[in-house]
Amino acid sequence: MKPMDWSYWERNTFLSPCDVLVVGGGITGLSTAISLLEANPHLQVTVLERGFLPLGASTRNAGFACFGSMTELLDDMARMGEGAAWQLVARRWAGLRLLRQRLGDETIRFRPTGGYELFCEKDEAAWVACLEKMDAFNEAMRDISGMQVTWSVADEAIERLGLGQVRHLIHTDGEGMIDTGRMMDALIRLARERGARLLFGLAVEGWQPHGDGVEVATNAGCVLRARHLVVTTNGFARRLLPELSILPARNQVLVTPVLDEVPFDGTFHYLKGYVYFRNVDGRVLLGGGRHLDIEGETTDAFGTTQRIRSFLLEILEQVVLPGRKIAPEYWWSGIMGVGEEKKPIIRTLSPRVHVAVRLGGMGVAIGSLVGQEVAELVREQMA
Ligand SMILES: Cc1cc2nc3c(=O)[nH]c(=O)nc-3n(C[C@H](O)[C@H](O)[C@H](O)COP(=O)(O)OP(=O)(O)OC[C@H]3O[C@@H](n4cnc5c(N)ncnc54)[C@H](O)[C@@H]3O)c2cc1C
Repeated sequence: MKPMDWSYWERNTFLSPCDVLVVGGGITGLSTAISLLEANPHLQVTVLERGFLPLGASTRNAGFACFGSMTELLDDMARMGEGAAWQLVARRWAGLRLLRQRLGDETIRFRPTGGYELFCEKDEAAWVACLEKMDAFNEAMRDISGMQVTWSVADEAIERLGLGQVRHLIHTDGEGMIDTGRMMDALIRLARERGARLLFGLAVEGWQPHGDGVEVATNAGCVLRARHLVVTTNGFARRLLPELSILPARNQVLVTPVLDEVPFDGTFHYLKGYVYFRNVDGRVLLGGGRHLDIEGETTDAFGTTQRIRSFLLEILEQVVLPGRKIAPEYWWSGIMGVGEEKKPIIRTLSPRVHVAVRLGGMGVAIGSLVGQEVAELVREQMA
């Protein structure tokens, strides 16, 4: 459709200039809009989402409300140093609190089930490293969460949980699970309630400075103007901003049919978080395996592969529900945004263009906070 085809009414409502245009309607984009409007209800905020649903990671994740397993934290510390790794844990903790306060535990079906990390025979070295660090980690976590004990050995639970090949287990207190679909539905409703205009099925193709703002080109041919632009396209960010240090990372997930019995209730981490599973509505959700083919999974194309499907099925049959052969009822993938540094990019790129991306595998936890932080950046520039 050509721009001249837009009606007088369309131009003066849906397509009219606004204060802030947010690109991307995932957790980060919606949280950005909500934070902007909570700080100033008079702002005109429009969110542009290319899908009829927010199709990236936010509606496709595992719904873990988690702040890091011990092996993941040890890995983070080796990569970014202890201080930065604990800062990230603190942000995840604060982000989860904000999400829960904003939407309500009942709405998002948050349950504080606790979580576990698994260690099989070949993971002995990792297990010993965790044991050595457990007291120090609990002390550091006490300052963040106020919990006396976060991580504890739970080997006695292996049999009760029905796990196969598992030698050791660490229990994580304070971890939980949510219903991802409900969270996103509630975020969409709240953004609208606060006054945001949400336009679905409209992809941004580029922008340029225009007067004292930005002019944004879309795939529908219409041009939208705003005083400020916030890009929250995460795993797809390089398509609009090739200079950013961010790569797409696909993650594959399965869900079983409803089972007679799921012998556990909680979130489970394995192999530094590369594999994860939980129960949901009488089923098991299991995902991960990206480490098997990092190169192949560095893509922003949705899809599943035989190699990772086989791996996940093997884990399902040997570790999660040993001895049972179960054909999954659902398979899907989601696209994360990752980088060398395990830290979101929240930055003003030019006085009127801002970005909040690279949430890795922790956007449920930090997405609300990242939205709040980029909203604050925009407000500083507007003042
Ligand atoms: C399989 C999987 C499991 C995960 N499990 C967990 C978990 O248990 N716990 C946790 O904390 N985190 C988890 N994550 C990570 C978490 O889901 C993400 O970090 C989070 O959803 C990122 O949100 P976002 O809004 O930044 O990005 P997204 O949700 O990807 O949103 C970006 C949006 O931008 C839109 N978009 C892209 N290009 C354009 C364009 N040109 N114009 C307009 N719109 C555009 C996309 O359609 C998309 O909706 C998981 C991720 C995956 C993939």
